[in-house]
Amino acid sequence: MQYDYIIVGAGFFGAVFAQQAKEAGKSVLVVDRRKHIGGNCYSENFEDTNIVVHLYGTHIFHTNNEEIWKYINRFTEFNRYQHRVLTTHKDRVYAMPINLGTINQFYNLNLKPNEVEAFLEAKREKIAQPQNFEERALSVVGRDLYEAFFKGYTMKQWARDPRDLPASVFARLPFRTTFHDSYFDDKYQGIPLGGYTPIFDRMLEGIPVELGVDYFAHREDLHKRGRTVVYTGAIDQYFNYELGRLNWRSVRFETERRAQEDFQGTSVMNYADTEIPFTRIHEPKHLHLEKTHTPNTTIIVREYSLMDNDRPYYPVNAEEDRATLARYQAMATKERNVLFGGRLAEYKYYDMHQVIGSALQKARRELA
Ligand code: FAD
Ligand code: UDP
Repeated sequence: MQYDYIIVGAGFFGAVFAQQAKEAGKSVLVVDRRKHIGGNCYSENFEDTNIVVHLYGTHIFHTNNEEIWKYINRFTEFNRYQHRVLTTHKDRVYAMPINLGTINQFYNLNLKPNEVEAFLEAKREKIAQPQNFEERALSVVGRDLYEAFFKGYTMKQWARDPRDLPASVFARLPFRTTFHDSYFDDKYQGIPLGGYTPIFDRMLEGIPVELGVDYFAHREDLHKRGRTVVYTGAIDQYFNYELGRLNWRSVRFETERRAQEDFQGTSVMNYADTEIPFTRIHEPKHLHLEKTHTPNTTIIVREYSLMDNDRPYYPVNAEEDRATLARYQAMATKERNVLFGGRLAEYKYYDMHQVIGSALQKARRELA
């Protein structure tokens, strides 16, 4: 049979599009080169621990958008987890993003909210229009805090000088002059009660899924099997790197089971200093305070960052990338019967809610 849609990638973009197409009465086949659905949001119960581990790093769902929140709640319930991140610098633990507590602890002061602006104003570098990560950081927090908490971490994470990263990467983090220490300010936030994979099981209910299938090994066949292909893999790979490679950052995870109740007392601990090779340690049991876990057991996951264009996770989006991307996008608009979507195909630093929003929008346009 010929399907209406062949969807390459069972991550959020592919799953939402598939779900919407099926609901509109279309026939859909989903393929993924991995052995599981869920893309980078995939989670599983770790051995006999009853601890849900997000295999590709801790994922916190957060959004301000009513429609997206309502949509995702069709497929799961959320717990009341509120994300707080700590960072270790020179063996001391601070709150991240930078808030009044971080500033006071770092400078060993007791500034009040109405004093901190003037204090920081003296530290800030006056840069009228910050052009990159470093300039934005220096103009918001000043050099001391930048060098302690951002410079080393960002060099470890992106393997490039923060001057070569867009200012928008720094702008992802809030900066606060109160003691408010939540990582996100969104109206809705939480972790799906059973982890992320059950969401994908429900979205893809009744839809055939073929795993371990790489689009590039079956390209011709897949185009024959469907009228339209929805492609959520990397855009440069789709075009066989014809115009050159885009820069991608990759991540590697090292998982360890430990016979101890609690390793670090929080779900994510960042490590700001370059002497420590990993960027952060995840301890997933702290994401589910509502659950009972196997006693005297915890799982920790060390996250290492590396540049690997063959295993794309994060678009680097450096200046040279933007020019190449624009040319690939122009080629994409000329492809017939192919839709491109998601973090890899759009080369966008999307969070989950943004990918869901984008898939809903593109599906609505396509299926109208
Ligand atoms: P993906 O999840 O990457 O799915 C794409 C799928 O396509 C993959 O399964 C891949 O195997 C498949 N594919 C690719 N090429 C091919 C091919 N040639 N053939 C067949 N299949 C192919 N977002 C948040 O909102 N909150 C967070 O806390 C958060 N934390 C994150 C932490 C980390 C470490 C990372 C990496 C991301 C994080 N994100 C977070 C972002 C979130 O993971 C993404 O927004 C989301 O997964 C993107 O969905 P997607 O469908 O676009 O891509
Ligand atoms: N960042 C940093 N120190 C930290 C946390 C973040 O320098 O302790 C920088 C880093 O460059 C990162 C960016 O701020 O890429 C945005 O942080 P976010 O948590 O959004 O990054 P993600 O977890 O998505 O990689």
